[in-house]
Amino acid sequence: MSDNGILVVTEDDCKQLMDSSSAFDAVRDIFGRMASGEARNFPVVREAIGHADALYGFKSGFDKSSMTLGVKGGGYWPGNMEKGLTNHQSTVCLFDPDTGRLSALVGGNYLTAIRTAAASAVSIATLSRENSKVLGMIGAGHQAGFQLRAAVEQRGFEKVVAWNFHPEYLPNLGKVAEEVGLPFEAVEIEEVCAEADVIITITSSFAPLLMNHWIRQGTHIACMGTDTRGKQEVDSKLVASAKVFTDEIDQSTSIGETQHAFGEGLITKEQITPLGEVINGTHPGRTHDEDITLFDSTGVGLQDLAVAGVAARKAMVAGNAQTVQIG
Ligand code: NAD
Repeated sequence: MSDNGILVVTEDDCKQLMDSSSAFDAVRDIFGRMASGEARNFPVVREAIGHADALYGFKSGFDKSSMTLGVKGGGYWPGNMEKGLTNHQSTVCLFDPDTGRLSALVGGNYLTAIRTAAASAVSIATLSRENSKVLGMIGAGHQAGFQLRAAVEQRGFEKVVAWNFHPEYLPNLGKVAEEVGLPFEAVEIEEVCAEADVIITITSSFAPLLMNHWIRQGTHIACMGTDTRGKQEVDSKLVASAKVFTDEIDQSTSIGETQHAFGEGLITKEQITPLGEVINGTHPGRTHDEDITLFDSTGVGLQDLAVAGVAARKAMVAGNAQTVQIG
């Protein structure tokens, strides 16, 4: 990344340098390269460390076409909020693929938020009906606002309807809708399903929230919250009856939303399509207006590396990031 040392790209640098459209392009392109085999994620490590209730882990991979090699390290520290810090903490290390030298350290917190928002936005751009008018939000935590902002850039949404397990969080999401100029209604969860053309689920639920029989034909659902064994946002029968797309099939069936339908024998890996195949034009994606499409995102290391690589390149061009030497 830098011939003169290790580039340090701070959280503030990332906020200044990365916008949602750069994140969208980076995530769309990396999904395509994962599907064509040019880029590969390596096995994820995720462990409870037995201290501070923390979950700690690594996501890594290599994208040969952009020569991006690296790892995102970090995890979830539930007590951080009381210390004035975000509970999710991460940092991306980028390495020179020719030598293995550390080339950049990039703050991963903001990038995680925008790469996750970009993933649902890419799924909406790729799979939802072009005439989608109502966006349904299930969840109103830290990520929800990011998902909403990125989603509304993809379709001509005219309204947002939302439900959250903790209704007291909904006004904050309402403010985001207001900022992007859309009317916002907090409604019952069945009503989200009855009204929305596109639904984003972004909760930490461990039990199904969306039931199969509530979903209208033609709906696109981006399931973003389930990224761990045991979590679940969607009825497994809904997964079984939808056309299912994902970032990475093995992660999807082990820690993603399809883990339940897969475990119950309602869906096979062959019935799940990498979203990148639709991006590359090797799979048709949605073929009828009536199709229910479902994107299962677990979040892959290459997504993090893709946005970190862009942030590092932008920082080099802007010339304002520090470099340090470690010999
Ligand atoms: P957060 O803690 O800020 O918000 C959690 C949300 O889940 C809130 O809306 C909360 O009201 C809701 N919730 C809590 N308990 C619930 C329950 N029992 N039933 C239903 N809803 C419940 O978290 P966040 O940062 O907004 O992340 C939300 C989810 O997305 C988490 O599960 C996180 O692990 C996941 N996530 C996924 C990716 C990805 O790449 N797919 C990336 C980041 C976060």
